[in-house]
Amino acid sequence: MGIAIPTLCHHHKLEPYGGCRVCSVEVEANGRTMVVAACTYPAEKNVVVRTRSEKLSRIRQALVEMMLAHAPDSETLVALAEEYCADRERFKRNQSFCIHCGLCVRYCTEVKKKNALGFIDRGAKKRICFIPKIAATECWKCRECFPLCPTSRYRLPLF
Ligand code: SF4
Repeated sequence: MGIAIPTLCHHHKLEPYGGCRVCSVEVEANGRTMVVAACTYPAEKNVVVRTRSEKLSRIRQALVEMMLAHAPDSETLVALAEEYCADRERFKRNQSFCIHCGLCVRYCTEVKKKNALGFIDRGAKKRICFIPKIAATECWKCRECFPLCPTSRYRLPLF
């Protein structure tokens, strides 16, 4: 529809993931209003979708503030912080440079079919890890996932 909705984990070659939640929208159906991830919610007839509202701005603002703690200098996050008036210093810095969007892991699995990356642990301890045996033979000649990272300085447009 040509309506811009922010996203950090969507890629046109990958299955919808609903990881970053920055694409949250308000959906009004059957008298109920819900906040859902736009990327994983199927479009339906007779549904009202709000892509911008005060509530959505607050949600996006809080999400961006949390992610900035991991990658405070990410140009993508800084731009979103400006758009949603996010406080770049709200949360204590923990510069892992990973916001768990899963783009690299999913790209390697779904597009390259190499499985050179994976998630390990859960919750606050969750992180991304190369599988050394595969990465050592595949990554040097590929590097396709590198520019997908939202915290990379060399990020390419996703669409
Ligand atoms: S660079 Fe390595 S981890 Fe990234 S997509 Fe290519 S094979 Fe997978």
